[in-house]
Amino acid sequence: MARLKEECGVFGIFNSKDAAALTALGLHALQHRGQEACGIVTFDGLNYYAERRLGLVGDNFTKGKILEKLPGNSAIGHNRYSTSGNNLIKNVQPFFAELHTGGIGIAHNGNLSNARHIRRELVKTGSIFQTTSDTETIVQLIARSKRSNIIDKLIESLFKIQGGYALTILVENKLIGVRDPFGIRPLVIGKLNKSYVLASETCALDIIGAKFVRSVENGEIVVITNNGIESIKPFPKMKERPCIFEYIYFSRPDSIIKNISVYEHRKMLGAELAKESTIETDLIIPVPDSGVPASIGYAEKIKKNVELGIIRNHYVGRTFIEPTQQIRSFGVKLKHNINKSLVKNKSLILIDDSLVRGTTSVKIVKMLYESGAKEVHLKIASPPIKYPDYYGVDTPDQNELLASKLDIEGMRKFISATTLQFLSVEGLYKSMGCEKRNSSYPQFTDHCFTGEYPVEPVDAKEKYFSNDQPSLISKKN
Ligand code: AMP
Repeated sequence: MARLKEECGVFGIFNSKDAAALTALGLHALQHRGQEACGIVTFDGLNYYAERRLGLVGDNFTKGKILEKLPGNSAIGHNRYSTSGNNLIKNVQPFFAELHTGGIGIAHNGNLSNARHIRRELVKTGSIFQTTSDTETIVQLIARSKRSNIIDKLIESLFKIQGGYALTILVENKLIGVRDPFGIRPLVIGKLNKSYVLASETCALDIIGAKFVRSVENGEIVVITNNGIESIKPFPKMKERPCIFEYIYFSRPDSIIKNISVYEHRKMLGAELAKESTIETDLIIPVPDSGVPASIGYAEKIKKNVELGIIRNHYVGRTFIEPTQQIRSFGVKLKHNINKSLVKNKSLILIDDSLVRGTTSVKIVKMLYESGAKEVHLKIASPPIKYPDYYGVDTPDQNELLASKLDIEGMRKFISATTLQFLSVEGLYKSMGCEKRNSSYPQFTDHCFTGEYPVEPVDAKEKYFSNDQPSLISKKN
């Protein structure tokens, strides 16, 4: 069954004697972006070294043996989240290939919306793919480019791919960072003494004590060498449209986007939700941890307190609850328990950041009633998710999305909540500091809510119209 996936996390560091260890720390800070596999590729001036593992960074890239196998002053790393069937070790990044220009390591956060299409063309003309990942398409395109140097090969390849991508690339004397033309996926630059760092989020800079320099711009390639940073902008200039879901759910609350912490952004989502709401109740409780900042913002707005009516067990590994839908729904109980004495005989507002299939809400609302709650008014600090994603959030099947099947009243009944309210699209944009959504060029990538895709989902359309499908393409992010 299809399920919503988190995105991947990428990291890179140039010119540091502790490159592999710092990369492991950076990946650890980005663990929330993908927990199923992780990997590091290093370069020591002569050779490349690669270690890839299934599981968490902290369980794999610990001191000692594995880090000793990763010598070198530059490194890239990757955290991966995939559907269980495709979580094969061969798909674990970073990928490494020997090209005629030398070795290349590549780590990718995002999803290419035309990878399947390109792959089919490449296979027809002789390319042999080793993995089922869309990222390998980039490697193959670079390998087949007739341009003479690696940067030109990369640029030529970028003009062929579409979708959401933030890349960290390691080639012999360079660390390269790339963001897709819309800047759908995030990538920041940091500096630690003389070393430059690239990371999906600023929380990965904090953990190693690196200073934030700036974000890689949408459509920008940054080439880091011993001479510093060179910026290349091969695409026609356009305004960025970052993925709104980074603000709502993906990024860590302590990461900073555009000078404001994600925590503050989420509080503003909650405050805006409160402005759109009229209900008075005894208690405001968040779904932990995802609904906490929005609940605080909501409560602040109406001058009430937040109470911890649900307690989360932090020792439940995600992989533990993944494999089947049955175990997954059981998993909600493993993860959350009700603070019974607090909720008994109370009418309460329950706040979460988003509603996808409704699995979490159904379970939690049921548990609240079983614990004696009188009324449960569910409020979601983002609009209904009606449309699938193809750029890395990966909600592949529209019919899995509750809001694509039911209207608000239908969803309320399904969840058994007393009332159900979502933040409006207008409220979402207001909370992001925009007066309103620019309908001719929206400020964010928001197709999950609006159905308006910034990049044509070529593969998805082909899937719909064609029977000629290669069967092994993974839905990796
Ligand atoms: P669901 O239970 O399917 O309705 O999913 C909603 C819950 O999943 C909320 O608590 C969200 O915080 C969380 N969530 C939102 N987006 C994602 C995602 N991409 N991957 C995993 N969980 C998510």
